[in-house]
Amino acid sequence: MFKLTQYFSTKATPQSQPISGSTQIPNSAGGYTWSVDDWVRLDRFLILGSEGGTYYISEQKLSIDNAEALVRCLAADGPRVIARIVEISEAGRAPKNDPSIFALALAAKLGDDATRKAAYAALPKVCRIGTHLMHFAEYAQAFGGWGRGMRKAVAGWFNARPANELALQLVKYQARDGWSTRDLLRLAHPRAASPSHDRLFAWVTKGALPEGAAADPALSLLVAKDALARLSQPREAANVIRTHRVPREAVPTELLNHAEVWDALLADMPMTAMIRNLATMTRVGLLTPGANATKNVVARLGDNTRLAKARVHPVAVLAALLTYKSGRGARGSSTWSPIAQIVDALDGAFYATFKSVEPSGKRMLLALDVSGSMSWGTVAGVPGLTPRVGSAAMSLVTAATEREHTIVGFSTNLVPLTISPRQRLDDVVAAIDRVPMGGTDCAQPMIWAQQHKVDVDTFVVYTDNETWAGSVHPAQALRAYRQARGIPAKLVVVGMTSNGFTIADPNDAGMLDVVGFDTATPPVISDFARA
Ligand code: CA
Repeated sequence: MFKLTQYFSTKATPQSQPISGSTQIPNSAGGYTWSVDDWVRLDRFLILGSEGGTYYISEQKLSIDNAEALVRCLAADGPRVIARIVEISEAGRAPKNDPSIFALALAAKLGDDATRKAAYAALPKVCRIGTHLMHFAEYAQAFGGWGRGMRKAVAGWFNARPANELALQLVKYQARDGWSTRDLLRLAHPRAASPSHDRLFAWVTKGALPEGAAADPALSLLVAKDALARLSQPREAANVIRTHRVPREAVPTELLNHAEVWDALLADMPMTAMIRNLATMTRVGLLTPGANATKNVVARLGDNTRLAKARVHPVAVLAALLTYKSGRGARGSSTWSPIAQIVDALDGAFYATFKSVEPSGKRMLLALDVSGSMSWGTVAGVPGLTPRVGSAAMSLVTAATEREHTIVGFSTNLVPLTISPRQRLDDVVAAIDRVPMGGTDCAQPMIWAQQHKVDVDTFVVYTDNETWAGSVHPAQALRAYRQARGIPAKLVVVGMTSNGFTIADPNDAGMLDVVGFDTATPPVISDFARA
């Protein structure tokens, strides 16, 4: 018999060709995959952004492709887009808020009437701090000028919050990325909601304490900032900081070299600021092994309620852990001796920042794409956090809750990995860095499990979906596995970049696309496995 099926079969198609009769399209690596629908792509963009591009796609092209998908979603259902932006931004599900702000600005400028209205109504929910508002203004400028809707929304942002809360925003975020609160007030020219608001606006536009400031309790922070500028003794400065709960942004740089000053700042420091400043507080000598401040910091990092309330994202914790542990600043100019208890506390906080997972109890194969393309670029622009490293960290969150799991890595072939949630994340990262890289064959996990007669209920593949090196498509390998083992196995594809591809067959209900580093992803994986 002439084996015609070696050239044409719907069960085993080389990845360099599309499965016959399917809706597969070419990916960027010379293979064929499906395209994710625009709503999945919107989620990928809102959570992963497009900063730095991918191994195959430039930052520019990736940003344009994502924006085009966003425009298509807006045309299909603008208010649904706004609801999604608010949902992801407010819950702190994304490492960075910029993609959400960008999407909101685009919707506010290019959406239909209902969409624009919804976008401006959502402004205070998505732009929660002054920096966000300045980024919104920058993005909105690219899509049009300052219309009436925009002026009203920005004016409302300033007027809606109580004067003492607005004072904190104005002191902390005076200018960012070419914009200042002064610019925003000039363009929006709000009518002040109260005499205190009026004084705050005057302070911003004139740059000096207005008349009546000393007698207005809402301006006490501004008065304290003014006083600090004239102090050089750390003890006096610390007193002012404690009394008026002054944030770090309002403290003159030369005072920030004193442990005493940082001790005063730490008393009232928000969680995200604390995580960002661990290295500095160690360098100036406030955080030392066994010090009260160290115990305080470790206790706060272990407080899950506090972490959730502050919307601390796991990527922020992971970035802090990798930097802090290294003992060296990004530019290498500053150094510190990392404290082991703090590294351990950050490690624990990483797991706590994901939404809590109810284990499915299913047998899971967690398969990390360790191919070359996964080691290029960064997740959300965090230095050193490649999709490859990010995948390992993500898989450990599921591994920590699902008892019956095996972790493997694959490129052209499959390699068992010995990483576990009992190891510290920085050791895991180092272990992953040592795994050799090769081409990409996302069918390997299913092929391996079939060959080795491993029972798997759910395959979880962490990848950029740029598969090309296999003689059979992943979806076909999964169907072959189901048939061979008699297990209705499922496949979850964890997209680690914001490209438009997926190895999941959209017509197979046993396959699901989720987004890497969405804090809601681990419970979604367990729920899908359980169903
Ligand atoms: Ca690859």
